[in-house]
Amino acid sequence: MAKLRYQGYCECEPTKLVREKFGNANVYAQNAQSLLTKATGFISAYDFTLNPYRGCQYGCSYCYAAAFSPNSKMQQDWGNWVILKENAATILAKELQKWYKKNPQQPPRIYMSSVTDPYQPLESQYQLTRSLLEMMLDVRNDGYPTPTLVIQTRSPIITRDIDYLQRFQRLRINMSIPTGSESVRRDFEPRSPSIKARLNAIYLIKKNIDAFKGYIPKISITITPLLPTLDTDEIAFIEQLKIADRVVIQDFHPSHNRSLIASTRSAADKIKQKYAWWYDCEQSSYAKFKSQLLAQLVGVEIKEGKDGFGYE
Ligand code: SF4
Repeated sequence: MAKLRYQGYCECEPTKLVREKFGNANVYAQNAQSLLTKATGFISAYDFTLNPYRGCQYGCSYCYAAAFSPNSKMQQDWGNWVILKENAATILAKELQKWYKKNPQQPPRIYMSSVTDPYQPLESQYQLTRSLLEMMLDVRNDGYPTPTLVIQTRSPIITRDIDYLQRFQRLRINMSIPTGSESVRRDFEPRSPSIKARLNAIYLIKKNIDAFKGYIPKISITITPLLPTLDTDEIAFIEQLKIADRVVIQDFHPSHNRSLIASTRSAADKIKQKYAWWYDCEQSSYAKFKSQLLAQLVGVEIKEGKDGFGYE
């Protein structure tokens, strides 16, 4: 039962509180008007972005997506609320039908997700993302090719869906691992899964996807934004990146004072002060890390910024 203090917290209507505190987050539900959003800017190589949730329980200190919160209170409270798009699967089915009627042999290119993590902890219970994968696979029943899909996540919950993932002919999984040092991760993104858990998820996907039953996905590790990695961890971290076929690096989104502009949250700016040894000479820290990647990761594709986020 919703308590009064939460009523009206979310100004987007109609919204209902479905659960107080799943981890740190209050969970709201809403019916979405549409699900596939035209992709622009950084991910303009895609036709659409797809976000099953609004808000994100991980609440990373640097997350640019906070700028797209429904109101300023929720922007400040990033990480402590999530809105489920309850009717997501139904809407997606309609939108895919519409696309394929016009483009029967041209699958849409979909980036999931741009402003949330589709495998945040809530997903283990609500299975919204799983229901969307199911809808995307169902198009084959009508003779259409499945969408080209990129899944951006930092969550090992993705391994739950290996049965579906291997049925996509064109799938890239972008696992976000912005640092090789656990202490740095805990500073910048204390609610997120450990580095080890993320690497292990990739390992499990590679081990369990059966080429005889389906298709092998491409795997990227996105070090975006590139956070400091302690000298003592660097070589071992880069060695572990060999599990991917692509590694992407990128620095922070520049900060803007205006809302609705993708920019690094001020929470991260405070944490950066603790890592002056890296950020006082940020460009050379970036260049040094990049040259170490190039030296150590022979045979792995290394890309920077926007170039790294395409499917191909
Ligand atoms: S997991 Fe991604 S969307 Fe979620 S808070 Fe972190 S950076 Fe933002």
